[in-house]
Amino acid sequence: MAPRNAQILFPVNLSTPFDYAVPSGMKLSVGDYVFAPIGQQMKLGVVWSLNPPATDKELREIAQVKATRPLSANMIKFISWVARYNCAPLGMVLRMVVRSYKALDPSAVVTQYRPTSEIPSKLTPSRQKIIEHGGPFPARAADIAKRAGVSPGVVKGMADVGGLIAEQLPVDPPFDQADPDLDGLELSEDQRLAGQALSEQVEQRAFNVTLLDGVTGSGKTEVYFEAVAQALRQGQQVLVLVPEIALTQAGLARFKARFGAEPAPWHSGLGEAAKRRTWREVTQGRAQLVVGARSALFLPFSKLGLIVVDEEHDTSYKQDEGVIYSARDMSVVRAMIEQCSVVLASATPSLESLTNARSGRYLHLELPERPGAITLPEIDLVDLKENAPERGDFLSQPLIDAVEEVVSKGEQALLYLNRRGYAPLIICRNCGERLKSPDTDSWLVEHRASGRAMCHQTGFSMRMPKTCPECKAEDSLTSVGPGVERVAEEALRHFPNARIEIMSSDTSGKPEEIKARLDRMAKGEIDILVGTQMVVKGHNFPLLTFVGVVDGDLSLVGGDLRAGERTYQTLVQVAGRAGRADKPGNALIQTHQPEHEALAALAEGDRERFVSVELAMRNMLELPPYGRLAAVIFSGPNEKHTEDFATKFVTLAPRADDIEIMGPSEPPIGRLRGRFRRRILVQSGPKVDLSTYMANWRGKVRIPSKIKLQIDIDPQSFF
Ligand code: ADP
Repeated sequence: MAPRNAQILFPVNLSTPFDYAVPSGMKLSVGDYVFAPIGQQMKLGVVWSLNPPATDKELREIAQVKATRPLSANMIKFISWVARYNCAPLGMVLRMVVRSYKALDPSAVVTQYRPTSEIPSKLTPSRQKIIEHGGPFPARAADIAKRAGVSPGVVKGMADVGGLIAEQLPVDPPFDQADPDLDGLELSEDQRLAGQALSEQVEQRAFNVTLLDGVTGSGKTEVYFEAVAQALRQGQQVLVLVPEIALTQAGLARFKARFGAEPAPWHSGLGEAAKRRTWREVTQGRAQLVVGARSALFLPFSKLGLIVVDEEHDTSYKQDEGVIYSARDMSVVRAMIEQCSVVLASATPSLESLTNARSGRYLHLELPERPGAITLPEIDLVDLKENAPERGDFLSQPLIDAVEEVVSKGEQALLYLNRRGYAPLIICRNCGERLKSPDTDSWLVEHRASGRAMCHQTGFSMRMPKTCPECKAEDSLTSVGPGVERVAEEALRHFPNARIEIMSSDTSGKPEEIKARLDRMAKGEIDILVGTQMVVKGHNFPLLTFVGVVDGDLSLVGGDLRAGERTYQTLVQVAGRAGRADKPGNALIQTHQPEHEALAALAEGDRERFVSVELAMRNMLELPPYGRLAAVIFSGPNEKHTEDFATKFVTLAPRADDIEIMGPSEPPIGRLRGRFRRRILVQSGPKVDLSTYMANWRGKVRIPSKIKLQIDIDPQSFF
């Protein structure tokens, strides 16, 4: 047979595959994993395409084909699509898929033990311990021994006399099989109909998108479980994406309760072994149900039937570093390629998804009510101009009165402020200096509990200084503004007998601590919980009847085009924590801008009012969903060079109709980790292929080595 050549893509920062010769006798297909030489090294890559014989070029040979399931044609299409759309190097997108080389091999096997079906009636005390405490079985001798508190020799001895059976089993065991036909909750009529409609979508085994648009607590999870069950019945795999901070043990337990098996997890906190296990089981088509954070979208499923994007409006679906992409938008692309269903679920859908649902591109399923007699919380605004808190305080009288009332009834209150630490600013009373991060344009935040001053952009922290670093005055540093620690301190002053706890990513870093605190809250062992964004996602607190929002204006500052939408979404979600069980709830939002459209609509419980005003504004300005945006972020060690290059870049923009370029300008964080930053914003009409435009533009310019240039298609944040 004539020698062929093959294009191999490597999971590295390169935009194109390389050509290699195929040694005679080597059988090769597109998608195969191979080892091939790059420089002095052998690297793992993927066969991207197979070409006719090369005539003029001397090519190096592929060394070896890995005996494993190849990357599917769909996956190759998806990787190419993601790279093209997001202007990202093809190799870097492949790298998001090929996470663990070891996962390509079958799991190693080790000797593991389990009790025989007939356990001898007379057991020595140590063997008794093994039976009682050594499980779950099968397990390795060392693990059994540790759990039972005996030596590993006892385990082996027991196996020798036939009390345990030794087997060669994989180190990474498969996940338990999910059972789609276990009974779930008894659904309300609305829920049942929505669940049925979703199942029908899945049954089509074709590309379709549904927006599951249901108020907080309407049971969206129970409803999409119906679609999950349908896909499982069809023998297909299911991916449920949830925001990273909702990936708690409690969240996963709900899946186990409904399907009788723990789902395969995927998130950044997972250890290497656990990641390898999930990756391998997904690739082999054995893991049926995966629950993961955004990067789970890049797992190489072999027979995907359904993707659910829970809380589809959540900003954590956008990855802002490395390959910049939106997992929500890319999940629709993945489903299109796999010809399967997507469910986007939210109580506060993004305006993009809502517009797609209204135009008929997506099926729109609405759940306007909570099941049973549970009502949505009543939301009222507290105008801080008329109800100013005491000097130096942050809680107004109406808020204090409301907390007093629920706590005296034995119910719970949540005080929400999306600011970690004690105070967002540290100022010197003597010279007016504000403590700033050393390499970033960001103020340091006082964390009183740990006695440190921290930068929330980079994680930099130092001991809280005793003297002002500028004027050296002693004890002159003072804290300005509220963080959760300070609000908790104030609450304790008003309610000295209440059980008050804080929930933020500082105070509850470890998963066990988070769980313990959530359990205490769920059991009613906390009276007042002061929390950040951490408390908003995926928890149900049956005794929580009041939510107080300390600063309803916080997310309105910053001039971001989505500030109103974000504020509206966050506050609906926070308020939605109140009144889950048989007790109605209410929420108070402190604000300086009660007339703001987002806040006024909240108080009236009139989403349509907010949506229509916001959409009209976007339409007038040709902003998404009526127009398109792309951003370019430049950064470099020298401010002038960065600025000059950004300016030059703008002058080299290809000519095109219906495109407007704004900037360069200095973003709110003008310096990050020692690098100076500039941004430009590109706006176009809705039909323009901005990805191609941006890629052509970048292709025309030589980028100096010290400057980093990132393209962000459909930017969500403008920092
Ligand atoms: P959402 O995701 O819409 O906020 P969930 O699916 O989390 O809602 O449901 C909210 C709470 O209501 C959960 O505790 C859930 O168990 C409960 N729930 C939902 N539907 C029912 C039902 N039909 N019967 C009883 N409880 C339900």
